[in-house]
Amino acid sequence: MRVLSGGIQHETNTFAVTRTTVADFIRDSHLGPDFGDSSQIRDRFRATNTIHGGYLRGAEQFGVELVPVLNLRAYPSGMVTREAFETLVGELVTRIERALPADGVLLDLHGAMVTEDYEDAEAEIVRRIRSVVGEAVPIVVTLDLHANISPALPKWADAIIGFDTYPHVDMGDRGYEAVQLLSQMVKGEVNPCMAFRQLPLLTLPPMQCTLREPMAGFLNELHQLESRDGALTATVAMGFPFADIECMGVSVIAVSDGDSALAEEIVEQLAKRLWQLKEELQPRLVTIQQAMHVSRDAEGLVIFADGSDNPGGGAPCDGTVALAALIDAGFEGAVVATLCDPEAVEIAKGAGEGGRVRLPLGAKVDSRHGKTLDVDADVLMLSDGQFVFGGPMAQGLEDTMGDTALLGINGVRVVVTSVRKQCIDRNMLKVAGVDLESVSLLVLKSAVHYRADFGEYADVMLDADTPGVHRPDFQSFKYSNKRSGQCYPLNATAVLEAISSE
Ligand SMILES: [Zn+2]
Repeated sequence: MRVLSGGIQHETNTFAVTRTTVADFIRDSHLGPDFGDSSQIRDRFRATNTIHGGYLRGAEQFGVELVPVLNLRAYPSGMVTREAFETLVGELVTRIERALPADGVLLDLHGAMVTEDYEDAEAEIVRRIRSVVGEAVPIVVTLDLHANISPALPKWADAIIGFDTYPHVDMGDRGYEAVQLLSQMVKGEVNPCMAFRQLPLLTLPPMQCTLREPMAGFLNELHQLESRDGALTATVAMGFPFADIECMGVSVIAVSDGDSALAEEIVEQLAKRLWQLKEELQPRLVTIQQAMHVSRDAEGLVIFADGSDNPGGGAPCDGTVALAALIDAGFEGAVVATLCDPEAVEIAKGAGEGGRVRLPLGAKVDSRHGKTLDVDADVLMLSDGQFVFGGPMAQGLEDTMGDTALLGINGVRVVVTSVRKQCIDRNMLKVAGVDLESVSLLVLKSAVHYRADFGEYADVMLDADTPGVHRPDFQSFKYSNKRSGQCYPLNATAVLEAISSE
C-alpha cells in the first residue's frame, strides 16, 4: 500500500501587522529554498512527537509504504501572502501529482491558516489535491485543536482527525491514528461517514486547555462517545479566536463506519454538552499587580501567563506591560521569558557578559503591546539559544531562540531572544542561564502550552490581564465578520440551534 503525505501548517492571527511569506516558511521549517525532500522529512520527524513522526511510526506498524512529499510550517503570525500560498500549495500539488499513483493521501494541516484570498485555506488545499488525485483516493486530514473549520473542508476530505490535547501533546498519536484509519479504508475494512457541525460559540485559549476543567471532563465524554460500536473517531476544534473570518469558532466532527445516523448523533451530543459549558469556557484575567501580591504570599513558583503577547498565536513577543511593572517594583526573583528584541541582543553582545548597557527594550513591532522601555541592564549571560525540547511537546525536536541575552534590570531578569519563540520548555530557560529554582514569579509569553512542561513546578498559574493581539478577551477586538456577532459570548442570547451545519 503506497500512501503520500504532505503538510503546510500555519495559524494565522489576522490582527497581527506582519505578513507571512515564503521566507518565513523556509526559515521555520529549517529547510533551504528547494523546500527539502522525502529523506529530509524522514530525518527531521522520525521518533518525534509530531504528526509526521506519527505517520512514520504508523506506516511501519501497518505495512504502509509512506512517501512524504513536502512538510512546511511557519511560526504563527499575520496573514499569509497570496504569493506564499500559491508557491507552497503549487509545490505540494505538483509533488503529489508526480508521486502518483497512490492508494491514499495523508495531510498534516493546522486548520487556522488565512491567506489574502482564502479564509479557510485548508479547504482550498484539500480541494486542489482532490482535483489531482480524484474521488477514489481517500484523503485523511489531521488538524490542530485550534482549527477554524468551514463546511467546505469536510466536503473535500474523507476523514478529519483533530488533536485531543491543549497543550498539544498527542500529535504523534493522531498521526498514527490517521495512518491506521487510512490503511483500513484502503483495505476496504471501514467506510468512513463524517458528520460536522459549527457551534455559535467562540472560546479563548486559557479555558480551551484540556488539563483543566471544563475541557478535561469534556474530553473524557468525547472519548466515551468515540469508543461506541461503529464510531471511528471524534474531534472538537475549539477554534482560533484571533482571526476575523466567517468560520471562526468551535466545531465538532464525528466519523462512523458507514452509519450516518450514528455520526450525526455523536455530533449532536458533543454540541449540546459544549453549549452547556459555554459560560465556564470564558476566562478570568489577573493583573501583574495582583500577581505580585499572590507571589509575595505564595511559597513556591507563581506563573503569570502573558498570553496576550503569545508568539505561538502570532503576537510579537515583545510586550513590556508586565516587565515595566516588575522593574518599577524592583521585584527580585521575577523572570520574564522570552522577549524578542534582536536589536537589544546585539547591544548586549557588544557589551559582553558582565557588561552594563543602556538600551531601548521591547514594544517595537506595533503599538498594542506597551511602550519601549529605556533600561540600564546587566548582561548576565549570552548564548546561541539552541535547545532540544525536553518536555512533552515536540520532545526530541531541535530548535533555536537565536542569539539570546539574559539581562538583569533592577532585580528582574529578562530572557531576550533574537527569534520569536514561545517559552514552553524548561530547556529554553536552562540554555539562557535561568535556574527555575531561583525564580519566584515567572512571566511567560504563553497562554496554555507552558503548562505541559512548567505546570507541575508551579504553585499558582494565573491568566494575565495585559494588552495584545492574543488577549483572551473578545471585547478587545473589532470583528467585521458577520457570524461572530451571532456567536456566544459576543451575542449573549445566542441559541445553539440558530446556526447549524449546512
Ligand atoms: Zn494549537
